Amino acid sequence: MSIPSSVTRMEKIVSLCKRRGFIFQSSEIYGGLNGFWDYGPLGAELKRNVKDLWWKSMTRLRDDIVGLEATIIMHPKIWQASGHVDTFSDPMSTCRACKKLVRSDQVWEMLETSPWADSIRATHSDAGIDREALAKWAKGKGARVAPSLALVKDPDAILARIAERLEEAAASVQTLFRLACTASAEGPLSIPCPHCGGELTEPRPFNLMFKTYVGPAATEEDIAYLRPETAQAIFVQFKNVLETSRVKVPFGICQIGKAFRNEVTPRNFTFRSREFEQMELEFFIKPDEVVQNQTGSVAQLSTETLLSDPQPNWGWELWHKYWVEERFRWYESIGLKRSSLEEYWQKPDELAHYARATVDILYKFPFGTQELEGIAARGNFDLTQHQQHSGKSMEVFDQEANTKYVPHVIEPSAGVDRLILALICEAFEEEEVADDKGQKEVRTVLRFHPRVAPIKAGIFPLLKNKPELVKKALEIRDALRPHMNVFYDDGGAIGRRYRRQDEAGTPYCITVDFDTIGENGPEKLDTVTLRHRDTMTQERIRIADLHAFLSSQIQ
Ligand code: ATP
Repeated sequence: MSIPSSVTRMEKIVSLCKRRGFIFQSSEIYGGLNGFWDYGPLGAELKRNVKDLWWKSMTRLRDDIVGLEATIIMHPKIWQASGHVDTFSDPMSTCRACKKLVRSDQVWEMLETSPWADSIRATHSDAGIDREALAKWAKGKGARVAPSLALVKDPDAILARIAERLEEAAASVQTLFRLACTASAEGPLSIPCPHCGGELTEPRPFNLMFKTYVGPAATEEDIAYLRPETAQAIFVQFKNVLETSRVKVPFGICQIGKAFRNEVTPRNFTFRSREFEQMELEFFIKPDEVVQNQTGSVAQLSTETLLSDPQPNWGWELWHKYWVEERFRWYESIGLKRSSLEEYWQKPDELAHYARATVDILYKFPFGTQELEGIAARGNFDLTQHQQHSGKSMEVFDQEANTKYVPHVIEPSAGVDRLILALICEAFEEEEVADDKGQKEVRTVLRFHPRVAPIKAGIFPLLKNKPELVKKALEIRDALRPHMNVFYDDGGAIGRRYRRQDEAGTPYCITVDFDTIGENGPEKLDTVTLRHRDTMTQERIRIADLHAFLSSQIQ
């Protein structure tokens, strides 16, 4: 069976990330630490650009949102009030054979990329099960890729049982997997381990918070947690921010920072990590009753509603839709195509008990369409919980409405690392082009939007042994670098230098040549070649115009 192109695409992306210094495995020289990743020089720039753009769009370009930077370790009571101590858990199963832990609700998803499941699937088609191929697999390849599968350990007995329930197994590959891993003929079918085919235990809840101790005594009373999300700090500092800034409801508080979750099965490169960064906004709004009293009615979505123009009569539903639209617009502004994103409205049975509506913004990763950000209408659950647990009032007095209330909240919550991965996946392309001699070669290019690109321009002297060219190129670098990240490179043929920048995702390259220094006449003096990454076209531009041009592309 051929490897799906999504797998090879992902492998190529992971390898490019390492080769070009975007993302490295954490602690690699010690064998790595599962679920932890480091960003190399290009990755660090990319990440910084993304966080800066989010921060700017949330705070500096608006006057209704302010920022916060809180600690990672906070009072443990916060996590009791928020519900994390009691309920922030994932269902976990252990494989009885290989002892590996897996997240019970992700087993079927993991089987999509499991080598043994992939090869057994080849014996199963819409036309039915190829029993001969299955028997051959059980007695041959199966022993190598799924040593704990009952079908491999006792092929004749399990094959006989599959034959008895052939129709059922033919209709669903899941049933075939379950039959193949269940040793005893009595009792319910088991779920197979994605690693070795062994039986998994019943799911049990596993709390995802990392524990630590504050102070030297290290007793039960000193237990604290690394925050599993940045949002709670915003709620607990809500009153301080309100009282010290010139904001009034509706307004938001946002924060970018590290979050930690002891994920049962970190996977899909950085997508599910144990240490990651979040960009979260809590946008506080008036409860609908207050809006109703104040404006006479709560606006409903209609063809006339201009979602980009908030109004005093908006209730939570319009504010929620407003933020969904805003977030889609922002993703598009940094280079994720609308067609690569999906809007998913959580179904009533998927919603957290306090949530009125949650929209997930999904990205079509090579390994599947998965969540980038969640935008939840959370009512006043969080502030009310902290009010009860801390005994401190979270009410605001609204002069316009002449009333007191605990604000409600809309929460757009995004993951930085997932977004970085999405941007890299979106940008990655291999295309066949002709080299200098007209030979075909594969060009690997990252088509980042100039706003997020780690390097905005590569600056090259045509030859490194011509001091006039080098001097001019260094002057251009020095003039541009206070304003943007540029990269000077004088090594190797110019074509190679372009290719290196293509792989780094640099949108423009500037070459200083003999025209620049006036060797071919005065009309081209002080002009350079500007090469565009995406089209590979080149144009002549005056050195004096470079800064304005590049700035206009990255603003
Ligand atoms: P999932 O269902 O994928 O575990 P979640 O719904 O638990 O995610 P939230 O609690 O809503 O995630 O967190 C908000 C955002 O934080 C997510 O949309 C995601 O971008 C990011 N995030 C959450 N968990 C992780 C993780 N383990 N690694 C990387 N990013 C994460």
